[in-house]
Amino acid sequence: MDCKHATHLLSQSQDMRLTWRQRFGLRLHLMLCDACTRFSRQLVMLREAVRQTSIRIEKDDRLKLSHDAKQRIAAAMRDHRRSIAEARQNPDHNLSD
Ligand SMILES: [Zn+2]
Repeated sequence: MDCKHATHLLSQSQDMRLTWRQRFGLRLHLMLCDACTRFSRQLVMLREAVRQTSIRIEKDDRLKLSHDAKQRIAAAMRDHRRSIAEARQNPDHNLSD
């Protein structure tokens, strides 16, 4: 396994479970390769930082949207969906305009 393949598998392992064959090959590569071992540690740190940040945002009342803001966003999304649906029903109307 080369470094390109190893880093690809490391990235992939963030989103899905690797097969035992992939995990075995990756472990073998990491035992021999300092660069990929560093990359692997950075991925773990990055993931943890993202997790911590999202927990902090979740807990911070100052960053929460007000009820009004949520209503406005929901209304805007409804309008947007409606205008797309109307445009689809009307074949003369060009969506790209
Ligand atoms: Zn490597």
